[in-house]
This record gives sequence, structure tokens and C-alpha cells, in this order.
Amino acid sequence: MPISSPLTLVVNCGSSSLKFALYDPREPEALLGGLAECLDSPDARIRFDADGERTVTPLAGGGHREALDALLAFLAARGLLERVAAVGHRVVHGGERFTQSAEVSAEVLADIEACAELAPLHNPANLIGIRAAMAALPAARQVAVFDTAFHQTMAPEAYLYALPQQYRRDYGVRRYGFHGTSHRCVSQRAIERLELDPTDNALVVLHLGNGASATAVRNGRSVDTSMGLTPVEGLVMGTRCGDVDAGALLYIARRAGLDLDAVDTMINKKSGLLGLSELSNDCRTLEQAAAAGHEGAQLALDVFCYRIARTVGALAASLPRLDALVFTGGIGENSAHVRAKVLERLAIFGLDLDPERNDVTRGGACAVISRSHRPAAIVVPTDEEGTIARDTAAIAFGLSASAAEVA
Ligand code: ADP
Repeated sequence: MPISSPLTLVVNCGSSSLKFALYDPREPEALLGGLAECLDSPDARIRFDADGERTVTPLAGGGHREALDALLAFLAARGLLERVAAVGHRVVHGGERFTQSAEVSAEVLADIEACAELAPLHNPANLIGIRAAMAALPAARQVAVFDTAFHQTMAPEAYLYALPQQYRRDYGVRRYGFHGTSHRCVSQRAIERLELDPTDNALVVLHLGNGASATAVRNGRSVDTSMGLTPVEGLVMGTRCGDVDAGALLYIARRAGLDLDAVDTMINKKSGLLGLSELSNDCRTLEQAAAAGHEGAQLALDVFCYRIARTVGALAASLPRLDALVFTGGIGENSAHVRAKVLERLAIFGLDLDPERNDVTRGGACAVISRSHRPAAIVVPTDEEGTIARDTAAIAFGLSASAAEVA
């Protein structure tokens, strides 16, 4: 590799974590990666996965800035820092302003800041990452990649709530959707793998991880998605409730005397698989417990799978037909049980599971798991960091995203 070849750093600042990966734009796989977690707590630490080795360094009490400093020092010690010519940042909320990835400018920073009202936990952390990277790497191009951007192609009938229009005008209250980078990456891969016509295809993508969302994709564009103004709407998730009668929340708040912050905590942190099972938010733990006879775990998994199937049915209203149902995310890629339970309920679409192929499919590579050809059920690994790196290289180095992928 010539010493002058520029590198792309991908930075994903969550509310208390910082995920990172370093890419040579000519290679599909990251050169190194890692995660800083428990930030702003005594347990803060940073983990580097590089050269086949894993090293963990404590950051006691450190926040995003300290994590980024540790990352930059790690890169500098290996002679890699001076080659970082572009930094791609995951930004959760891009509101209506961002329909695609954008190079960071003073105006873009101000717009991301304005969107922070819509994502008060996430956008401020994303902004810390962008500002720290700008200060530490002033010569590098900075690119923002938005979770919401892919869904900006939704039509008003898909994105409007039937609330007074005044709240949309005054506060931007509408459905935005999230996980857009994953839905975009995975739908493109599925279209390629299944050799679908790029100008005439119809998919539903299920991103099932701790957060979970489903998206209807028509000709490579999002036409409807299950998450809304916030990531609480839609599917049952690890600790989020997903769809629930708004009246039920008012009823609980009044009966239990909960204030708005307590309701916020309840629907975001205490519900979903955790709330239903009264055991865990983790799908693998629940599958093991259910197999051992834990009723709450079984119930939580049943509701989770039923709601996914029900949502696929609802999303079909925005498609002319279904070419493929695509599973991704930690659960979608690894849980044969969840995939089988979801597909069992979707025979109405002509989906026919191949149990043998389903049972042996675990992340890592694309795999068709249906006997049916159209629609197909397919597992496709997501690659959010790689997609951010490709967008960043496309903007910063003028490489087309697909050229960067195959080069
Ligand atoms: P995040 O949304 O935090 O990125 P992931 O996409 O990593 O989450 O997904 C985490 C979920 O995937 C957890 O519920 C975990 O239990 C589940 N998972 C991972 N591997 C398996 C497996 N082999 N079987 C069932 N569930 C799994």
C-alpha cells in the first residue's frame, strides 16, 4: 500500500459510547475498529481491534472527547493518523433538511444542531464527535451520514400523523424513520444478490437488533418505515415498547402518577422484550430461557415475532407486490427461531421457509432461507460503518460509492 493512500475514519458517537473503524477506501473491510463504552462513568474504557489483537484501555470518567483523543493517539502511534484524510460521522437525526450525506460546513453544523431538538440524546453526542474530529484533524474532510436521510423519500400519507397540523408546522412533528444507513445498505445488497431489476423491485427490510425497525423499499427507495418522530414507534424492541395506544400511556400516567420523564423512561428503557419477559432485553438470553420453560421469555418472543409479521403486512400497503423479505441486525442475522416464527405467519405472501437453510444461517454472509423464489426470504449482514465509509469516500475523494466498494 503506498504511504500516501488516504484513509477514512468512521466515528459513531452514541449517548454513552463511541464506535469507530478505519478504512482504506479501496478495500471493503475495515483495517481496524473498536468501541469506547460506559463513557462519562468510572467504568469508561476503550477497546481496539487491530492486527488480530484486542486491547482494552481504561478511560476512567472520560467522555467522548477523551475517547476520541485515545483513538487518535492509537492511530498516531501506528503512523496512521497523518493518512486520515476524511472522517465520516453517523448523525442520528437530519430532520427534513438532510436527504443524503453531506460534507460538514458551518451551515451543516448549525442545521444538525437545530435537529438536536428532535433527538436530544443523540445529536449532541454526534456533534461532540464532529467538533472534536475537526479540532484534532483540521485538514481532514468531515462528512455527516444521517440515520433519517434514506426515509426522506416517503410520501406525506406515510409520514404524517393525524395530529393537528399546527404541531408539524411549529415543531416538525412527523414520521422520520431511523436505521436508514442499514436499510439502504441491506436493500442494495439484497437487490444485487437476488438479481432483482434495479428499476423495478419491492422489498421489506427487517433490521432486528436492540433497536428494531422495518422498511418498505420500492426501487431502492424507502416508501414507508416503522419508526416515527422518535425510535420508539413500530416494532417491539429490547427495551422500547414500539406501537402502543397513546391513550394507554395517558391512562398509566394518570393511574400511577407518572410525570413525563417517568413515562419517557418507561417506554424507552423498561418496556419491549425486557418489560414483557420481566427477565432480559437480550434475544439470545430469552431464547435460552424460553427453551428452559420460562413463560415470560416465551411470551416476549411470541409478541416480538407476531408484531414483526403484522408490520410486514402493514408495509405491504405501500408496495405493488413483495419480491423479498430481508432479515438483518443481530437478531435478524443470527436468530433462526425469530426468522422461522415470523415467516410462519407470512404464508399469505407466498413465503415458504426452508428450515434446513434457516437453521444453519448465522450472520457473516448473504443467504436465501426460503424455498419460494419470489418472494424470497434472505438474510443479509448489515454494514453501517462500511456504508458510512463509502459515502464519506464518495464525497471526500470523489470515489463513487460502488467503485469504493469493489475497488
Ligand atoms: P444493536 O441494535 O445494539 O446494534 P445488535 O444488532 O448487535 O444490536 O443486536 C443485538 C441483539 O441480537 C441482542 O438481542 C442479541 O441477543 C441478539 N443476538 C445476537 N446473536 C444472537 C443469536 N445467535 N441468537 C439470537 N439472538 C442473537
